Amino acid sequence: MTEIDRLFQTGKLMSSLSTFGIGGPARYFAEVRSIESMRELLRLCKEATLPYLILGKGSNCLFDDRGFSGAILLNKIDFIESFSPGVFHVGAGYSFSLLGAQTARQQWAGLEFASGIPGTVGGAVFMNAGANKRETCESLVSVDFLDEEGTLHCLKREDLKFNYRTSPFQNMPGAIVGATFSLVHDPAARTKQIEIINYRKDTQPYSDKSAGCIFRNPSCGFAGAMIEQSELKGTVVGGAKVSEKHANFLVNTGRATAEDVQALIALVKRSVLAKHGVELESEVRCIPYQGCHAALPR
Ligand SMILES: Cc1cc2nc3c(=O)[nH]c(=O)nc-3n(C[C@H](O)[C@H](O)[C@H](O)COP(=O)(O)OP(=O)(O)OC[C@H]3O[C@@H](n4cnc5c(N)ncnc54)[C@H](O)[C@@H]3O)c2cc1C
Repeated sequence: MTEIDRLFQTGKLMSSLSTFGIGGPARYFAEVRSIESMRELLRLCKEATLPYLILGKGSNCLFDDRGFSGAILLNKIDFIESFSPGVFHVGAGYSFSLLGAQTARQQWAGLEFASGIPGTVGGAVFMNAGANKRETCESLVSVDFLDEEGTLHCLKREDLKFNYRTSPFQNMPGAIVGATFSLVHDPAARTKQIEIINYRKDTQPYSDKSAGCIFRNPSCGFAGAMIEQSELKGTVVGGAKVSEKHANFLVNTGRATAEDVQALIALVKRSVLAKHGVELESEVRCIPYQGCHAALPR
């Protein structure tokens, strides 16, 4: 038995690991519960020149119908600790939504917007997730990052360049294993967080299978409004549909394939370009069958 056979399972369906519910089998798959184990698996992938993908909750990924030809490292490093008031050090596999709700309940403000974002802390840092005019990077102090050589770095926020839904980690091979956030005391935090989650439930197809907003908002407006004005709400390709509730959500009505979603993305882009003269860009990460960790095509 090789080391790869010992440490990885085979054939795990990516549809079971993504909120879209789409994707074929992964050649190799492992759950990672500690930094030590992440180090070992990264080393193994590197030695075997095996493409790998660090996965959180799969809430911003569209997997290929054929699956993934490399190794999926499912990040389950999910500790939480606090050594000083308002400062939280969390594992990258910790639920971002739970972190937002927990901290708000304790009257800490800064991550209320995270409530309802169904990803991990690692995925939120990687994507610089945001909502309600707030972004993950704003309350971030530092990120624990494990490079492919196995060295653990504590990277300070001021040395990292974040932008709208982008982070330097999108071009850095390795894994985010933890993050530290600093929040401010505010007795109104819990009320705000509840308002945010209620608004989400009212305006988004929260119980449908999706990857959240499929397009980034262009600098000149909102992608959802442009899609709606292009009269695309309810448009269907195979099992994929433009949500009737929020036009920037494409939903899997049951048996959508990645091909259906890609075809619907192309149709929406063409229509919005024709109507508004705007080229929409995908926010969702389309993971190619023969993928690698960094530099995935948009
Ligand atoms: C109903 C719904 C609502 C949503 N609302 C919002 C919203 O309001 N705002 C918003 O910004 N997003 C939203 N999203 C999208 C998504 O939840 C976020 O982008 C989230 O941050 C992704 O986290 P994840 O753990 O699921 O990442 P995944 O989907 O698992 O991964 C996304 C990318 O991050 C990389 N990655 C993940 N973890 C790590 C790690 N530890 N180290 C290195 N790379 C890593 C992956 O390789 C992949 O390229 C929504 C999605 C859904 C389904």
